[in-house]
Amino acid sequence: MSSLASPTAELAKPAQNLIGGEWQEVRGHDTYEDRSPSDPSLMVGIVPLSTDDDAVAAIAAAAGAAPEWAALPAAARGAILNRAAGVIERDQERIATLMSREMGKPLREARGETLRAAAILRFFGAEGQRPTGARWEQSASGAPVYTVRRPLGVIALITPWNFPLAIPTWKLAPALAYGNTAILKLAQPAPLTGLELARALDEAGLPAGVLNVLLGSGSRVGPVLIDHPQVDAISFTGSETVGHGIRDRATVLGKKVQLELGGQNPLIVMDDAPLTRAAGAAVAGAFWSAGQKCTATRRILVHERVYDAFLETLREQTGRAVVGDAEDAATEVGPLVSEAQLDDVVAGIDRGRGEAQLLAGGERLDRTGWFVAPTIFADAAPDAFLSCEEIFGPVTTVSRVGDLDEAIARANDVRFGLSASIFTGSIATAHAFAARAQAGMLHINSQTAGAEIHVPFGGIKSSAWGPHEQGTAAVEFYTDQITVYEDA
Ligand code: NAP
Ligand code: MG
Repeated sequence: MSSLASPTAELAKPAQNLIGGEWQEVRGHDTYEDRSPSDPSLMVGIVPLSTDDDAVAAIAAAAGAAPEWAALPAAARGAILNRAAGVIERDQERIATLMSREMGKPLREARGETLRAAAILRFFGAEGQRPTGARWEQSASGAPVYTVRRPLGVIALITPWNFPLAIPTWKLAPALAYGNTAILKLAQPAPLTGLELARALDEAGLPAGVLNVLLGSGSRVGPVLIDHPQVDAISFTGSETVGHGIRDRATVLGKKVQLELGGQNPLIVMDDAPLTRAAGAAVAGAFWSAGQKCTATRRILVHERVYDAFLETLREQTGRAVVGDAEDAATEVGPLVSEAQLDDVVAGIDRGRGEAQLLAGGERLDRTGWFVAPTIFADAAPDAFLSCEEIFGPVTTVSRVGDLDEAIARANDVRFGLSASIFTGSIATAHAFAARAQAGMLHINSQTAGAEIHVPFGGIKSSAWGPHEQGTAAVEFYTDQITVYEDA
């Protein structure tokens, strides 16, 4: 294992919140141990559980910093984001190693995520050089009428553990770029990785109070963030249950809410598809990072004419997937993030045994750490648990379909609509899929996971609520649009 730069002494002290520009201890005494999923005997850090008072202090700091931050030119805000990107690039290997150790993301994907975070900061760092609105003429006079964007104020960002750096970054970078201040709640299983973003922004010279970070329990500080009158909007990524609870509570209070939730993402393999490539995409989509991606491939729908041949290459490629310690650079399938997550996934698999045929995996691995073997089920009925619910681990199903219509009907037959993919050699088939598949992100001849930073990201149906995130879409959530009629 490569070593982290942080001295051992630092491990003994609880991590700290960032509030009002100060790294500070939480106002309570409760802590928990943050352990490595590849080897739980390895302590990554001690993490404090923030109290209601910490949340209130974070909100006050964010509200206090809001007017000055909003008044800066966007280019000045962007310069700070760009400097933070440089800090992350400088420290990329240390941050990627920490992410691998803390969350169990295989190092090669952790390296990619670290660089992605820097790229997101640079994308939003350039907002000051982009148009701020549109301009027309008034009908009667020809005088100008134009739109401008205004920040919302104080935004609470509630994030999950599965992209512990990228998701905090893709919420925070646009929030700050458009002139808002923020409270960032990091997820309990992997908060130290997210703290690196706050460290980078702090080093880059972010003014006090513009970003405030809370460690600890979401069910504890979440309600304070959602109910507080000085919090104007909430952006949440995580589970459906928690997300819907937040939406229901916050919208009654008149707050703007954005949710990114789960998926039950299909990959269709047509009879004219390149089968080896399609199987490679299925393995990567279903099993890399142990399937702990909202866009992971959960259902593989294969044309009956190529079903047997596809299954053979899928099983062969699954057998070759490198399962191992997350910090080993060769690893493709690492551990699950926690013992609780492992128990959930094993329970899901056990339920699946009663409704479909187990073709591969299905077991916890006999080794240290929270590992489950890449698992494939065949012929789960459309209404089976395996076909409808999200098992957040290395578990996928494969089923026969007779033609494109049946494939698309099966693909759409879930309440989710996050991502979907098709492998085909036919442009007409690809276009039919693009026109009819019900998901916010469609892939033609690529895996269901994977997203560019400069384009919209988000689901439809039960997978999301509110405007999409990232790239050119982010402005919709993080600003109000104002129309100005200007007569002399
Ligand atoms: P989660 O349990 O919903 O947690 C997400 C965040 O919400 C965590 O920070 C959590 O804090 C916090 N939280 C928990 N209870 C809360 C409450 N009552 N009020 C406010 N905040 C609360 O989800 P997860 O297990 O971390 O993440 C896995 C899920 O996220 C999967 O369903 C996955 O599909 C989804 N996901 C979606 C996307 C997407 O973009 N669509 C991306 C990644 C993940 P604690 O950690 O303290 O509990
Ligand atoms: Mg951990």
